[in-house]
Amino acid sequence: MSKLAILPALLNSLRDAIIIVDSEHVIVFVNQSAIGLLGYQRTLLVGAVFEDAVQLQVNGERVSKDTSPITKAQKKHGIYISDSEPDLKLSMGRNDRSLVPVQISVVPDEDLNSYNVIFHDGSADEKIDQAKNEFVALVSHQLRTPVNIISWYIEKLLTEKKGTLNEKQREYLREIEISNKRVVDLVQAIVNVSRTDLSRLKHKHEEVDFANVLEKVLVSVQELSHQKSITFDKVIDKGDYLLNDSDQELSSIVLKSILINAIRYTPKGGKVTVNASTVTEGQKLSEDQNIIASVKGVLVSIEDNGIGIPDEEKIRIFTKLYRATNVQTLDVTGVGLGLYIAQNFMSILGGRIWFTSDLREGSIFYIYYPCVQIGIL
Ligand code: ADP
Repeated sequence: MSKLAILPALLNSLRDAIIIVDSEHVIVFVNQSAIGLLGYQRTLLVGAVFEDAVQLQVNGERVSKDTSPITKAQKKHGIYISDSEPDLKLSMGRNDRSLVPVQISVVPDEDLNSYNVIFHDGSADEKIDQAKNEFVALVSHQLRTPVNIISWYIEKLLTEKKGTLNEKQREYLREIEISNKRVVDLVQAIVNVSRTDLSRLKHKHEEVDFANVLEKVLVSVQELSHQKSITFDKVIDKGDYLLNDSDQELSSIVLKSILINAIRYTPKGGKVTVNASTVTEGQKLSEDQNIIASVKGVLVSIEDNGIGIPDEEKIRIFTKLYRATNVQTLDVTGVGLGLYIAQNFMSILGGRIWFTSDLREGSIFYIYYPCVQIGIL
C-alpha cells in the first residue's frame, strides 16, 4: 500500500492545514483543516497548481512560482520555514475574501518526490498578542499614578518640612526611594513598550532644539555617573541643532537610555564620552554598516570603555527583553527593554540607532536624528 494511501486518516485528524504537492507544485492532497482554513472545496484544489489555487501573499503581493515557499524548499533541498525570514509576512486569501496571517513550513518527502506544505493559522496568535498587549497597557497605566504618588511623598518626607527625621528613618526612606525609582522606571518602560506594540504612539511633529535636549539629558545622568566615579566627557560641535519635525519626548528617552546603559555597563572609574555633531544630507554616517543620512540632522555617539557586547549576541541586542550573557552575572538592574524601545522610537522619528562593540573593551552607540521625518536611504 502506498504511503499516501495510509496517510489521509492521520493527516485529516491534524489541526494544522496540510497540502501535499508534487514536484511541479500540482496539489495531490488537501487535509480537512486546509479545507476549513481556505474555505474552498477539495475538488477545486486537487489537481490545480498550488500558486494558482491557493491565494498566498507575501508582504501584500501575490506569490508566484518564483517566490513560492515550495520553490524555496526545492532550491534548498531541505525544509523551508517561513518564520526563518522575520521580515516576511505571509497571508492567505480565503474563499470569503478575508486574509488570514499564516506561517508556512514546506517539508520535502524524497521517497514520494512530493512536498508537504504545512500552514499555521496566525490569526489566533495575533488576537492573543493584542489581548496581552491591551492588558499590559492597562495595568502599567494604572500603576503609574500610585508609584508617582509614593515618589512625591518620599520626597516630601525627605525635605523634613513636616518633622525632623532620625538617621535610621532617613536611611530607610532612601532605601524606599531607590526601590520605588526602579518601579517607576520599570512601569515607564512597560508603558513605552505597550505604546509602541499597540501602535498608540503619537509622533508630535514639533520643532525640537536638540542642543537643549542634550543639555538636559546630560544633567539628568550626572548623579549616576558621579556615583560610579565615571569620567564624563562631552564634545559638542558647533552647528544648527534645530530639528524641524521631531518629538522632544521620544528623542530624550532614546538619548537617556543609551547614556544610562553606557554608565551601567562600564565598571567604576571608567569613561563615557558623548560626541554630537550636525550632519548633512547624503553624508555617510557609518562606513561598515553603510548608513547614509537621508536629510540633514544630528549625529550623537556615546562611547564607553565598559564590558562590551559578545559578538554572537550583537544581532539580538535590540530584541525585547534580551540581555547579553555577560551582564547577567553583574549586579546591574535591567530588564532588556531600553534598546527595544529606543529602536522603535528612532524608527518613528525616521532616524537610526546602531552600535559597534568589542568585548571587554567597550561600545559606541550612534543615534542619527533627522531634521525632518522622511526616513533613511
Ligand atoms: P537593560 O539595560 O535593561 O538590560 P537594554 O535594552 O537597554 O536593557 O539593553 C539590552 C542589553 O544590551 C543589555 O542587557 C546589555 O546586555 C546590552 N548593552 C546595552 N548597552 C550596552 C553597553 N553600553 N555596553 C555593554 N552592553 C550593553
